[in-house]
Amino acid sequence: MIPNHSPWIQQLNRTRPVVPLDKNTSADVVIVGGGIAGVVTAFFALRNSDKTVILLEADKIAHGATGHNAGQITSYFERPLYELVEEFGLELAIDGQKSIESGWTLLDEIVAEAGLQTPIHRFTGYTGLCRLDQVLLHLKNNRYRMAGGLQTETIIISEEWQEYKNIPAEYKNLYGLVAHKDILKLLETNNQDYIASLSYQKGCMNSALFSEELIGYLVATYEGRFSFYEGSPVKTVRLKESGGVLEVLTHIVEAKKIVLCTNGFESFSITNDTGVEIDTKFHHSIAGRIGYMSGYVEPLNDSSVAISYFPKTDERHGDPTGENYFYLTRRPHEHEHKNYHNLVCAGGPEKVLPNGAGYSREHSCSEDMRTLIDDFLHYNHNKYPGEKPEYAFCWHGLLGYTPNGIRRIGPEPCNPTLLYNLGCNGVGILPSIFAGKRISEFLQGGKVSVSIFDPYDQRC
Ligand SMILES: Cc1cc2nc3c(=O)[nH]c(=O)nc-3n(C[C@H](O)[C@H](O)[C@H](O)COP(=O)(O)OP(=O)(O)OC[C@H]3O[C@@H](n4cnc5c(N)ncnc54)[C@H](O)[C@@H]3O)c2cc1C
Repeated sequence: MIPNHSPWIQQLNRTRPVVPLDKNTSADVVIVGGGIAGVVTAFFALRNSDKTVILLEADKIAHGATGHNAGQITSYFERPLYELVEEFGLELAIDGQKSIESGWTLLDEIVAEAGLQTPIHRFTGYTGLCRLDQVLLHLKNNRYRMAGGLQTETIIISEEWQEYKNIPAEYKNLYGLVAHKDILKLLETNNQDYIASLSYQKGCMNSALFSEELIGYLVATYEGRFSFYEGSPVKTVRLKESGGVLEVLTHIVEAKKIVLCTNGFESFSITNDTGVEIDTKFHHSIAGRIGYMSGYVEPLNDSSVAISYFPKTDERHGDPTGENYFYLTRRPHEHEHKNYHNLVCAGGPEKVLPNGAGYSREHSCSEDMRTLIDDFLHYNHNKYPGEKPEYAFCWHGLLGYTPNGIRRIGPEPCNPTLLYNLGCNGVGILPSIFAGKRISEFLQGGKVSVSIFDPYDQRC
């Protein structure tokens, strides 16, 4: 049995005791959930207003998805941009994409303002493609990026791959042709299936360490306006005409506004005293998936990178569509007595969590998922150590997907006392940061422009 052992949680070196809520209390804003979404929401709420803020975390700060991810800073939606254009129109879809990319600048602002030390590595990241349909999909996205005034992704295609001749002429100025070996070199692979690569800005950080440092800054900076409680699961939320009440352990917390930053898995009931019941299907339909990762340590020889691999087919594992993808990051990492090494993390395999089924962080790592990751590295990554590497870390985390795959950010349409910053997907770091800022705009009460992130309910 291999325990769930995340490198990000290990780096926290936590000494702070868990301090649960021990009294009835109240605040202007109560944030539920202490992952990166909750902590950044607290940052912007405190910085951009004079409101009092309480953050309630059921377990410990940053021990949810924030402490069990791949830590890649990346700005894509897990739905193709062209699909968002078809659903929302060009202007709103591009605005959504720009919003996520604005997370980079907001991240810089937070780090500078709070003087955070958490290392953030930036570099060009790559995605490897094997098939014509994958290439066409990204070219189509690129065309919309160009039409919307966004920087295009750099797409290069092997000139030895004859199928490139089937690419429609309309995409001609959106890619370049290069020698196949150059693509393989960028993707760090000897797998000849990869015939194209796209590149764009990426980065990586330990989002748990970032959240933990940021909460320390908030406590020190906003004494008297901010408090947080760990080991304090919210049991019920009652929404009134104005404000709401939360039941936490044996205590009551009154709030003017309540922001859910629970990643969608809140396990509490919500009642609305002022009208229609809150559509709890909205919450239940956030289907969960467990994402599995493994990481090994190697000498600090290569620079930091993030590469995603979309294989041709995955017949070895019964996925003939090849839609599953794997991702790899490499970054410097303190390992055993502060010697710097590279940490290579790989992930991709997921298991669907049936609606209503429980997920436990305490579950051990799944042996079959580890084998999938190991096979992936073996066949795709040319720096793979050869012999099965000794994995220093193996971990899993819960991914929350909204029905439309887009994070929900903003007030509940049937009672705006409640706001959401949740239900992301495998790409949640930059969306959470942008969302924290957007929530602060709603809290200030000004007019906030319409976006693809707005919660909706046709009854309200
Ligand atoms: C395997 C994996 C790989 C990923 N890789 C990446 C990546 O490379 N890049 C990227 O951008 N994103 C990635 N993500 C997604 C990213 O980690 C998340 O989107 C992000 O951390 C979500 O933050 P959050 O604060 O919304 O959720 P969480 O970190 O899960 O925080 C939610 C918190 O709410 C608390 N909570 C829940 N219910 C209650 C309650 N009733 N009362 C009080 N508190 C409650 C939980 O205990 C938890 O701490 C990955 C996720 C996983 C699982």
